[in-house]
Amino acid sequence: MQESLRYDFSGQTILITGGTRGIGRAVSEAFLDAGATVLAVYAGNRQAADAFAAAHAAAADRLEVHALDVGDYPQVERFFKELDGRHARLDVLVNNAGIRRDAVVGMMPPESWQQVIQTNLTGTYTMSKFAVLKMMQARYGRIVTITSPSGVIGFEGQANYAASKAGQVAFCRSLAREVARRNITVNCVSPGFIATDLIADLPAEQAAAYRQMVPLRRFGEPPEVAAAVLFLASSAAAYITGAVLDVTGGRHSSSSGSPCRWASPARRSG
Ligand code: NDP
Repeated sequence: MQESLRYDFSGQTILITGGTRGIGRAVSEAFLDAGATVLAVYAGNRQAADAFAAAHAAAADRLEVHALDVGDYPQVERFFKELDGRHARLDVLVNNAGIRRDAVVGMMPPESWQQVIQTNLTGTYTMSKFAVLKMMQARYGRIVTITSPSGVIGFEGQANYAASKAGQVAFCRSLAREVARRNITVNCVSPGFIATDLIADLPAEQAAAYRQMVPLRRFGEPPEVAAAVLFLASSAAAYITGAVLDVTGGRHSSSSGSPCRWASPARRSG
């Protein structure tokens, strides 16, 4: 039986970081399907961004794709100034952009620490800062940030990533309290193993072992994460703020058993 759960975001403007690939692309597509105007930003993979835009040429009047480094404060400030000229309001921000630079702490170069914190955590701060300033004027807004169970469990070789993901949750819970009176909600979605490039690269044996750690015995799909994001951005979630919604197939952050080891590749999100 196929149920259909439809949201209507027509007339709303949605900004999605890392919105052209992986989970972010699925989020962008779900909002486009729901009638929204989507602003998808990416770091530098122009080819993926062009392919995404081409796939949605039919909705070109509701789609903008921009290169923007979310961790670069002056760049983000300029981006929002320009945004003001084009869009009177911003209804939803999805902080999805994320990177990994894995290494055990004893071998972790300062750049790997810095880059991960800069993109994942500082990027969440810069984007949220300018977004709430715009949302406060409208007295309405939704912020959804993609964190990871890594921030609660901790993973070998991912101290920088785990710290950034834990920091995102603390940041969002604090911001949720600050802006609640302005009718702005701030929540997190915490995906488990999601079938992105990262998972595709895992050796079959390792992937099978990870699958066994998931009570539903499969990896999630990007649209399944997008569904949680749209729910939190919808009017149905008006009374939810400061929350973290697990999309993990039942693999709870606090009961994972033996945490997996992310040895390689080093430059993927997870
Ligand atoms: P991908 O690597 O597939 O995509 C990451 C996206 O983020 C890309 O669009 C990338 O742009 C963009 N990005 C990276 N750095 C920046 C930056 N500085 N400024 C703007 N955009 C940037 O990642 P996933 O889809 O797998 O992950 C998305 C989010 O979900 C991340 O936050 C990740 O931590 C989290 N997550 C993922 C899990 C998984 O299993 N996949 C599990 C748990 C959490 P470009 O295309 O230009 O490189």
